Order: sequence, then structure tokens, then C-alpha cells
Amino acid sequence: MSSTPLHSEFDSIQSLRTALQERKLSARELAASALDAAQARNDLNAFLHVDPALTLAQADAADKLLASGQAGTLAGIPIAHKDVFTTQGWRTTAASKMLAGYISPFDATVVSRLQQAGAVSLGKLNCDEFAMGSGNENSAFGPTKNPWDLTAVPGGSSGGSAAAVAAGLVMAATGTDTGGSVRQPAALCGVSGIKPTYGTVSRFGMIAYGSSLDQAGPIARHAKDLLELLDTMSGFDPRDSTSLETCDGIENAPGRIRADFNATIQSQNAGGGKPLAGLRIGVPTEFFNGGLASDVAAAVEAALQTFETLGALRVSISLPRTELSIPTYYVIAPAEASSNLSRYDGVRYGHRAAQYRDLAEMTSRSRTEGFGPEVLRRIMVGTYVLSHGYYDAYYLQAQRVRRMIVNDFQQAFSHQCDVIMGPVTPTVAKHIGDNREDPTADWLADVYTLGVSLAGLPAMSIPCGFGSPQRPLPIGLQIIGNYFSEGRLLAIADRFQQVTDWHQRTPGQK
Ligand code: GLN
Repeated sequence: MSSTPLHSEFDSIQSLRTALQERKLSARELAASALDAAQARNDLNAFLHVDPALTLAQADAADKLLASGQAGTLAGIPIAHKDVFTTQGWRTTAASKMLAGYISPFDATVVSRLQQAGAVSLGKLNCDEFAMGSGNENSAFGPTKNPWDLTAVPGGSSGGSAAAVAAGLVMAATGTDTGGSVRQPAALCGVSGIKPTYGTVSRFGMIAYGSSLDQAGPIARHAKDLLELLDTMSGFDPRDSTSLETCDGIENAPGRIRADFNATIQSQNAGGGKPLAGLRIGVPTEFFNGGLASDVAAAVEAALQTFETLGALRVSISLPRTELSIPTYYVIAPAEASSNLSRYDGVRYGHRAAQYRDLAEMTSRSRTEGFGPEVLRRIMVGTYVLSHGYYDAYYLQAQRVRRMIVNDFQQAFSHQCDVIMGPVTPTVAKHIGDNREDPTADWLADVYTLGVSLAGLPAMSIPCGFGSPQRPLPIGLQIIGNYFSEGRLLAIADRFQQVTDWHQRTPGQK
């Protein structure tokens, strides 16, 4: 059994697409070799569910379309989905015992849009239970391992997605980001990931965690590959009441992100030798405080210098509520989670306890058995902050601070800068088990990603270096933009990736 998938010879979705269209290889051959490779890397625990028959059926359908010249932009491209997207056929568990064995009768919009474009899914990827976590250690089915160091976490909650891309098992994967879960694992696994503006990608069929924060986004090696997925996934969906039709008069239509990307690249090219001439990069002083490890700070600084050589200007800005984003998020997200998770009561959805005396005991036993400790912790916090007597002091107060955080970003974008850059995580990936004694230690590591989520802004992570010789693991650079600037962010990241090769390093051959 070969453990190198055929797609690993192609460095981008575009080049693989060309080979498929020229029929140099078939979608079926690609899928079969990717399935073998995924199986050979069982040690990563990246996949929760594979079904070769379903995958090969998708590949055959892609081959038919390719042969007829009618194929979509992603025909035959091997991808996989975070296990919080519902999928017809494959199990959908949100990495929880509560949903073990659940098979959805429908596909999430993200899943169906990618499938319509011809992408071939290898299966469902591990994550933190109900997407709650920063290290992928909260999966009921065991942690995913970081392909760069099997004793390290891959980041969370979309850890399986980032690990599968970093290990080369798929060209790209879907993830979700409520407070950083696309950006963090991308950073810690040395791959690229983008969370778009809230409302850009439909949440229909995405298992809800914090509904005012949840947003889907892709993970891949290159910014250009992210473009391929994000452009396909995005666009208004009437089945999601928070899906945007327009933003500032711009239509949330499929194709918008690609059009913006192309227009930005064109204007960069017109800039001659300095493609990013005039781009103002805001660097928040609060992102470089005492909590940031020196190796991460140094890699981010080097990346900023690279941007300066491309013509960008650096401006110092302030996001004064950066630290406050932690308590604000950890009030709002659990509050929403406690409401979203009330449906898992052993009757409407989810695991039902085998033994109980009455209805109340059935519900409480089912929930106690079905949910893991972190999920139970969030439900406790959420119901507490929403309860009579504490609602004003916590939930309402958090909503007020959330508005101030939104204003801080708008202040920066209206007067000082075009994009904001900084670290994604305070340190490189920790060892699995490091935070076991103090579950809230993980919460603090979200300090650089939460504000963006509370504000609903688009942001991405791209690889920008490695940690100290004692722990030479990948480091991510965060690029944050104003609403609906995904295409622009991707074009800026692409420019950086044209002059650096961090995104091309793979575990084992750094
Ligand atoms: N670490 C954050 C949390 O646990 C964010 C997770 C996410 O974005 N899904 O809530």
C-alpha cells in the first residue's frame, strides 16, 4: 500500500485541476490513493469516519463530468470535512458521544456547494467536541496529533482539518471558526486558513456552537487554494437567516471573492516592483505584550519586514479591548452554546441513557453521559450568565463590551490602516496534555483571535516561520481585514507566499 497520495505531486489545486482536465490522471485514481494515504496515517487520528464506497462514487461522478467537459472548478479535487458539517451518508458526530453514529438526512450548504463543484470528500475530520477547544484535545474520540510532532496538539477546534492538510492527505479541508478554530490549527500545523466575514458562508447544516460567531472557512496549503474553496462555499443562502445578501451595497454572490482577488492582484501588478505599495498594515501594540513567546514575536516581526520590502507601510495601532475579548467571548459563546445544546435531550436528538426512572432523570443522565467535560463546563457557564440575577451583570455587560470591540476595529480601519497583522497564537503548539490541570489555560491562548470573531471580521492565518530550536514547530501570521475583504486578504497573502516558502514546508523535510 502506497502512503504517498498522487495529489502530493501537485503544488496547487489549479495545477491538479489542469492535470485532471487533460485526463493525465483520473479522479478515481486520485481518490483511491488518497484513501490509502489516509489509512496509512491512522496514527494522526485526523479522520473520524471514512467510507471508501461513498468517496469513490463521488470520484466516478467527477470523472464523468471531466470526460464530458462539463466539470466544475473543483472536479476530482480531494478534500474532507470537519465533522460539524452534516453529510448525507457519512456519519456526523461533532466529535461527541452525544451524536455517535448519527447520520444526517441532508448535506450542509457548504458540503453541497463543494460537491456540486465536483470536490471529492475523503470523509469526516476530527475536531474538539462541538468545536469547543483550542487544541483538539476535547474530542470524545481522542486527540488529533500534530504531523510536525506527534506529541503536540494540532490546534483546535478544526485540528483534524489542519493536520490532514499538513500531512498532505487532502488538498484542502473545511473548518469552522467561532473564536479562532480555523486560524489556530492552521497556524500550529503550518498551513493556511481563512475565516470569512460573518454571514458570508451559510451556516445551514453546520452544527451550532455560538450562532452569532460561528463561521465556516477552508484550510489549505496556499492562499490561492483557499480562494478556490472559499469562493465556492460562499454566497447568500435563504436557508440561513443570518446569511448576508449584501454588505455595504456589495452582493454576497458566488464569484465575488474571486473577482476581488483578481482585481487586487491586477492593481498590485500595476504597482511595478513594489506590489503592496501604499498598503497600510496596522500592528496592534496589545498583540505584542508579555504573553507572546519570543520565537513567535520574532517570526511575526520578520514577516512584517517582508511586507515592508513589498512596499507596505507599518503603522502602530491600538486595540485596547484585546484582553477583554477573553471574558467577553467566554460569556457570550457559552451562553449561545447552552441554548444551542439544549436540543440534545435524548428525545429530539442524541444519545439516550439506558436506565432512568422518570423524564427528568432520562434527560439529565443522557446529557451527563453524552457530553464531555468541556462541553458540560460551557453549558454550566452559559446557563449561569443567562440566569435571572446574573444576566445584566454578565451577559448584557459582555454584549456592551462586544460593541466596543467592534468599534475599536472600525476606528482602526476608518482612520489608520487597511489591514491588521499580528500573531495568531501566543506560543507554538503545546504538548498533548499540557493544559489538563487547568482547562481554562486554553481559553487564554485565544487572546489574538477572539476579538475578530466577536466583531464578525474576516481574518486568516498563513505560515511565517518556526519556533525556537527546542521546539521548532510552525508559527502563523494573522491578517485581519474589514468586512467583505476576503478576496483582498487572500491576494495580500498570496503576494507574501510568492516571496516566501514557509507554506511549502512539509513535516519531515523542513
Ligand atoms: N477556542 C475557542 C473555544 O473554545 C474557539 C473555538 C472555535 O473557534 N470553534 O470556544
